[in-house]
Amino acid sequence: MKALVLEADWRPRDGYAPTAWEVETRKAITGSSVWHRPRLALEALAQPGLGPKDVLIRPRACGVCGSDVHFVETDDQGYVLYPGLTRFPVVIGHEFSGEIVEVGREVTDVRGGDMVTCEEMIWCGECIPCRNGYPNQCERLEEIGFTIHGAQAEYITVGAKYCWKINELAEVYGDVDKAYEAGALTEPTTVSYNGMFTRAGGFKPGGYVVVYGTGPIGFAAIALARAAGAGRIIALEVSPLRQELARKVGADDVFDPVALQKRGTRPREVVMELTHGQGADMQVEAAGAMSKTVPEMEESLAIGGKIVIIGRAAERAPIYLEHFQTHAAQIFGAQGHSGYGNFPNVIRLMAARRIDLTPIITSRFSLAQGVEALQKAMRREDGKIMIRS
Ligand SMILES: [Zn+2]
Ligand SMILES: [Zn+2]
Repeated sequence: MKALVLEADWRPRDGYAPTAWEVETRKAITGSSVWHRPRLALEALAQPGLGPKDVLIRPRACGVCGSDVHFVETDDQGYVLYPGLTRFPVVIGHEFSGEIVEVGREVTDVRGGDMVTCEEMIWCGECIPCRNGYPNQCERLEEIGFTIHGAQAEYITVGAKYCWKINELAEVYGDVDKAYEAGALTEPTTVSYNGMFTRAGGFKPGGYVVVYGTGPIGFAAIALARAAGAGRIIALEVSPLRQELARKVGADDVFDPVALQKRGTRPREVVMELTHGQGADMQVEAAGAMSKTVPEMEESLAIGGKIVIIGRAAERAPIYLEHFQTHAAQIFGAQGHSGYGNFPNVIRLMAARRIDLTPIITSRFSLAQGVEALQKAMRREDGKIMIRS
């Protein structure tokens, strides 16, 4: 089968000593400290095998994620930019939906022909964090498209327990292709849902919500905030195209933080003005620029306000804890999307048309054009690029 494979050399940076676990598993905890000279190519691989609890899926839509872009982009020393858990070579692709082709002999919940989307976090269910209810913090975590083969391929095998049916979406969209595209947006949307509602406990209807950074995670945060009854949604984003899409998915006000700065204004001032001096009840970090966003967020928090950190960056943020005391405010860290009804609830919201993120899809490519799709993604002129088959 054809698959989009990413290779890179294991060459720890000067001054970085991989742990014994990293050497043994060949999994880099901080990919950007280890993986050098990435290469992406369409290759021919053997079709994956099928265990008794697995399903074989033919991916029909798979989004290109910012993480995929950070796999192929390098710093000035040739190291990949992605700072997370990785093991290369790997077939990329983790935001997908597809049709079940075959099921293992012990699988009962799904069958051939079902339309599904899948979790990307392959939690073990047996380690202490998993047993304590933290699947996203699993100690033996594998990640589809990061440490094990992903869905930018003609076939993928996944454990049935990580799959969620999206058959309903075909009825809602009245079109199977559109339903697969919507289904492939479930994964990024559940990441926002997990941060805002599962981890941070949400906000009251009518609450003010601010979203920093409107890539797909930010778009999802806006759509979810609207569905949850936010009183006003303010977004901050530098890209003009993404500003436009942020409005389309439900932001009431969208500002370019760089343009604000040129006018001598800061995001915190705009947020305080638009919230009539009350501050934001929930602020979502989806920019991965905490050193810049956290100082703005902490100065424009409502009493009882919450900051949710979903964006990723290997950097420190200055933080003035006094604000959190005087405002009875909280800060929540979130990663991943598994557990807690995150997937079924997001699919229900899509099926009820309470959220529709399909307008963020701005380009479509075939699997054969996968390398081209990544090159386009690197130009950052799209909302979401989909690979279709
Ligand atoms: Zn992703
Ligand atoms: Zn585990």
